[in-house]
Amino acid sequence: MSELAGQCLCGALRFVAAAPSLFCGHCHCRFCRQAHGAAFVTWVGFPQASVRIIADADALHWYQSSKQSRRGSCARCGTMMFFESTIAPGETHVARACIPGAIDREPEGHTFFDQKVDWVTVNDGLPTLASDHPRLAGFKEVGR
Ligand SMILES: [Zn+2]
Ligand SMILES: [Zn+2]
Repeated sequence: MSELAGQCLCGALRFVAAAPSLFCGHCHCRFCRQAHGAAFVTWVGFPQASVRIIADADALHWYQSSKQSRRGSCARCGTMMFFESTIAPGETHVARACIPGAIDREPEGHTFFDQKVDWVTVNDGLPTLASDHPRLAGFKEVGR
């Protein structure tokens, strides 16, 4: 598995990324949930330089979701696909659900777990990090 590829619902926004990925994890923060209209969002991180975004004309829309972070979506169908932040410099995070099939790793944990919605049960035994964990401290102001 040297390359991973994915696309939005309508296909106007696509990407190819070189393996290996950096991480894979479920994010329960309010920003992710709201932006994706979902209980939580599973992200796969890549070095920014290894991700090639391929977009039909004007199909890539960046939304500045906070001072430090932006979220990339398809302007045609609305699929939320990318996350970049100065808090995680040099990385592009891609929505796992946009990549069909297996990737080079399984989800490794849950972040911002204290913000998890009450109407979903998580019992996969994976590690959980709360918002005040040192590894997430940088995201505190931005909600990620
Ligand atoms: Zn689309
Ligand atoms: Zn998040």
